[in-house]
Formats: sequence, structure tokens, C-alpha cells
Amino acid sequence: MSTEKDFTELIFGLSKKRGFFWGPSPEIYGGSSGFYDLGPLGKLLKNRLESRIRSAFVRSGFWEVECPTVSPAIVWKASGHLDGFIDPVTKCTKCGQAFRADTLIEEQAPEAHIKGLDTEQLTEKIKELGITCPACGSELGPVQQYNLMLKTRVGLDTEAYLRPETATTTYLLFKRLLTFFRDRLPGSVFQIGKAYRNEISPRQGMLRLREFTQVEGQIFLLDSHEVDWPQFDDIADETMPIVPYQVQERDEDTVITMTMKEALEKKHFQTPAYAWCVYLAYSIFRDMGFTDETMRLRQHLPTERAHYAADAWDVEIHTRSFGWVECCGIHDRGNYDLTRHQEFSKEKLSVKVDKRPVVPNVLEIAFGVERPLYCLIDNAYVSKDDRDTAWLRFPPEVAPIQVAVFPLMGKSELMTPAKDIYDRIQDSGLITYFDKSGSIGRRYRRQDEIGTPFCITIDYQTLEDKTVTVRDRDTMKQVRVGVDDIVSVVTDLVHGRRAFSSLQ
Ligand SMILES: [Zn+2]
Repeated sequence: MSTEKDFTELIFGLSKKRGFFWGPSPEIYGGSSGFYDLGPLGKLLKNRLESRIRSAFVRSGFWEVECPTVSPAIVWKASGHLDGFIDPVTKCTKCGQAFRADTLIEEQAPEAHIKGLDTEQLTEKIKELGITCPACGSELGPVQQYNLMLKTRVGLDTEAYLRPETATTTYLLFKRLLTFFRDRLPGSVFQIGKAYRNEISPRQGMLRLREFTQVEGQIFLLDSHEVDWPQFDDIADETMPIVPYQVQERDEDTVITMTMKEALEKKHFQTPAYAWCVYLAYSIFRDMGFTDETMRLRQHLPTERAHYAADAWDVEIHTRSFGWVECCGIHDRGNYDLTRHQEFSKEKLSVKVDKRPVVPNVLEIAFGVERPLYCLIDNAYVSKDDRDTAWLRFPPEVAPIQVAVFPLMGKSELMTPAKDIYDRIQDSGLITYFDKSGSIGRRYRRQDEIGTPFCITIDYQTLEDKTVTVRDRDTMKQVRVGVDDIVSVVTDLVHGRRAFSSLQ
């Protein structure tokens, strides 16, 4: 592939053809950008990712909650989204198309410094730099603020908004959660659910969506917990590929791999609790199948941080389509959110410390599921070379289909044992697919194309010696395994407890 754009188009084409995602949706009505449908394999892949994410949070002591996606305006006034969740927009005076002013300036005049400019200053910049409509070349109108929330109405006339993030809806539960935690902190919860952002002319397909599934984990804690966080000891000797902000100021791309203990000692992280939180985000992305080869943790420059954030790091994944993609944010939000909701709701959102009310702090891990999903497909792609077809090298644990079962022929003496094996593997919890049509070579190829790591074939030898063929996607090698052992063998292979080479 010569350019990024070619590769992006290739991944989109492949995803549409093989049933990962389709769109923009609704396709038969011309599509609305920022909306995508997941096809059968995309949905399987997303389910796998969500189940890995869920396990990781639960293992780390988080409880899952689910809140409504629609909330009244007061909630978003309190959270700051009504006033602050805005993009600067300019409209073409001739063709009427709208654009994000800052992106437009960055695209047409990359050397211009526009960070922190207000709408009037951006309007001036557009005039000064002679920036025009990318669609028709005409003059652009004044820059205005545009809120990214989708507005709706509850009942006849109550102004409401679709949530732009799940986090705020979790904070509203604080009083209830505190009782659930038997009035003791720290307490951790997470939510997986839909969120909506009315982006101006979103491009980049699956990476910039107007409706997406968000995952947000929150730890409610006090200052004393931030510095005294016993779980940190469990990960102190683990390493993580990091890019601290001081390094970026010298050289953008230097990734340093160091132990968490060392990173804390060198003050790349302010507290053990926050460092632990960043490591948790990293380990969730590892569980989703990403490796250090395509992953890094990048600290925000002090100028990039949100006004309430004491510190912020991102998980970034490297893709052939878009280079480094920001996939997850880890934020130290302080007590900003609960303080605001306490003020607006007039409800007490504090705990007693030495008989005085204290509003707790929040550490947050936030990401959308669709970005890692796209990055996984991008990272899994292997071009033809020594095979008849391009194939996908998904890590076995997240592959949409984990095992395929083939009877050599559709005759009943082979169909019956093949169905029996299929049922047993499916019942064990692995996602299994049964295919009896076409030559074996063609069936292998179809599974390679969608990234199924292991295929099992039942043939005439099975009837004689009770063994079946297991074929490995990555090496295309085959071994025979006893029918009685097949479920435990493929389960071990999928979960990485046994290497395929150990079977030979
Ligand atoms: Zn125009």
C-alpha cells in the first residue's frame, strides 16, 4: 500500500464486504456521516471486546451500573457541557457548508498558532490567512460557537439532551453508590453504554462517530487514598511504554519503557492511585489484544489539559490507516464534578472526614469501543503474499469466531460426529461456526479472511481412530487431536494456555 488513504479505503472495503461494519447509516437513504451499522462479525467482535473490558474492570474491583441516555438540561448545565462542550464553526457564505474553524485553519495553514483563540480571534485569523471554503472556494462567515450535544424534548416541553458521555450520569448516582459502598471510600464503578456527539461534518469514518458506545470507569476517592493506594504494589514491577510530556517537548516519538515504580519515582505520575489507574487502562487495551508494538501511553502537555484536570494521559494505538490514534483518556478530575452537582442539585455529595464534609475526587478511564475495534481490524490485516487471499490475524481471544468446524463431506456418518463436536465446543463458551459447503481449501480461506484462529475437520480417519484435524490460521499447519480431548485443546489454544507448536 503506497499511502495511508489507500490502506484506509482497503480496510473500509474489506469491513463492508466481510460484514464487520456498514455505513454511513442508513445506507439505502444515502447515509448520514458519523453513524455506522455493525454487521454480524463486527457485532461479534464488539461483544468480545466488551466482555474483555467488563472482566478487567470487575477483576479490579469495579461495579457496573447502567443509566439513562437522556437527561434534563440542568444536568448538562451543572456538568459544564451546556456552556463548554462546544466547537468553533464557520459557514461558507455561498454554498452554506459548515466546517470546524480550528481544523480548517490547521489544514490550510499548518504553521498558524491558534490554540486558545476565541471566536472573534479565529474569525480574524481566517481573514488574515485568506482561508476559504474547501468545497467551493468562497468567503467564509464569522466563527460561531456550536454545542456538540443532541437536543431533544421529554414530555411536552422539558428541554433535554442525549448524553455526550456516560461519566456524568454515573456521578449523579454518587449518594446511592456511597450507601451501596456502606459509606466507605474508595469506591469504583463503570458504565458501558451509548453516548452522542453532534460533530460538525465528521470524517475518518469509524473514528469520529455521532453515536458510539462509551466505556467509563470512575474511582471515587479522597486525597489520602491517592497517596496511599495499596494496589499499586501489585503492578510496581510491571512495565509500560510511556511518552511523558517532558520527552515530547524534546522529541515527539520517543517511547520509554520503564517499570511503574520507576515512573512514579521519576514523578511522571503524581500519585500511586493515578499511576495504577493509567496502568489499568493499559492492561485493558492489552486484554483487547493490543501489544507494546502498536501501543503507547502519552501524557498531555500542560497546555492540552481540560481546566479541571490535574493530570491526563492517553492510550494511543498505531494504525496503518491514520498513524497514532488517541483511543482512551485517563483523567484526574479532582472534585470538580461532584462539587458542581452538589451546587446545582442542592444535595450533599460529600463524606465525613474528621467530622468535616469533604467532596471526594474522581479518577477516570474513558474510551469509545469503536476506535479499538477499528484499530484491531487495521492491525490484524495481513496482505496476500503467500496465500490466495488477504487475511486477518486477530488475537484468538477476541476473534469474532474462535473455532470453525467442518465435516469433510455432507454425509451423515461425518455430519453426526461433526455436529457433536460443534455442540460441545459451542457449549464450552467459545464462539463456534459450522460450515459444510465447498472444498476444505475454500472453507479454510473463508475463515482466514475473517480471522478465525482454529479450524477443525472431521474426516474418514475420524471414524477409524477417533481423531480430528486442527488447523492453525497463522502457520497453516495441521495436527491430529483425539476427539475426547478436542474441547480442552481448542479452549487452551484460544486462551493462550497452550501453543499450537506444542501439539506437534
Ligand atoms: Zn462553499
